[in-house]
Amino acid sequence: MTGKAMDRLRLALGLVVVVTGVVALVQRARRQPPPRWQLTWNSPAELEMTGTTMGPIPFKILIVPGDATDAEAERAARDGYAALERINRHMSAYRPDSDVGRLNRAGAGEAVELDEELFDLLAVSRAYTQRTDGAFDPTARRVFQLWTAAGRADTLPTDEQIAEALATAGWQRLALEEATRTATKAVDGLEVDLGAIAKGYAVDRVIDILRDAGMAAGLVEVGGEVRVFGPGPRQGAWRLGITHPFATTPLQTRTAGTLAVTDKAVATSGNYQRFSVIDGRHYSHIIDPRTGRPVDTAPSVTVIADDCTTADVWATALSVLGPEGLATLETLGGVEAMMVVGDKDDARVLQTPGFAAYLRGQLDLSAE
Ligand code: AMP
Ligand code: MG
Repeated sequence: MTGKAMDRLRLALGLVVVVTGVVALVQRARRQPPPRWQLTWNSPAELEMTGTTMGPIPFKILIVPGDATDAEAERAARDGYAALERINRHMSAYRPDSDVGRLNRAGAGEAVELDEELFDLLAVSRAYTQRTDGAFDPTARRVFQLWTAAGRADTLPTDEQIAEALATAGWQRLALEEATRTATKAVDGLEVDLGAIAKGYAVDRVIDILRDAGMAAGLVEVGGEVRVFGPGPRQGAWRLGITHPFATTPLQTRTAGTLAVTDKAVATSGNYQRFSVIDGRHYSHIIDPRTGRPVDTAPSVTVIADDCTTADVWATALSVLGPEGLATLETLGGVEAMMVVGDKDDARVLQTPGFAAYLRGQLDLSAE
């Protein structure tokens, strides 16, 4: 081959390599889902990230950078989103490849090694089950699933089905081994569902990230569970709406009142957005793990606590415990709650003594 021919061959080969590289890059970009968030500067002093996480759950990260630079604020928001995705990857019961997915599929006696963060959250959850007298219990997923399926089929589950599902639930049937970070089921079929704690937990982790990045103030909300830190925009406080339990639909939210909080978390559990209809009757998506049946005591519970994990768990637990749970909460200290009981024609509001201090203006529970 002449020198010229060699040069041509090299050029051609080079081109092939470049083109293949570009094609591969384009294909990768195509395969990657579009970013599920967007960044907006509301003002020079406030950055907002909104999007969805853990499937279709909306989230919001508001950042007041203070002395930090714009770039540092944007990086903090991105790091916050990465934490949400990490938590989803480990804890989603819907993703077969998540740690929870693996655990849920495992058989009795199989020691399942878990990610450290998930292992710790399971241990925390177990402690909450004790503290809430069994009202909060993520090991009862089979019972939750039974009612979801019943809603789809428009047929009530039988007592036998409920008893069967309950026989797979409970921490006495799931051993957590600290040294090896493994979980082992005592029975086949036990499944965990962190849906009543993971959102609050995720909010707390994002707040940590914003604080550690030196942001002056901020708000993080995942699926309606919120936490704020630093001085808020209204006389140093943050104003948060309480979702209206009777005039709210899955598509439209109305507020029944306003809270003013600083360095606090607020979580609400309600029957208005997620429920099943069986035989024309509404059933809550919150199940009493002790009876295996949907709760019907409180259409809406709002909890204020220092951290969002605590607020999230107690909002669900109080939905199960009803008014009696408020008394238990008072012995705890630092956690305040408001509960709406009854229905839209006859609604009553019950509160812990410290809750009123956070309310601004009147509560409006009228449905019109
Ligand atoms: P939340 O809306 O935050 O109260 O969370 C409710 C979700 O947690 C449900 O959709 C179920 O996935 C799950 N869940 C339902 N009842 C309970 C319960 N008693 N304890 C723990 N998780 C529950
Ligand atoms: Mg919750």
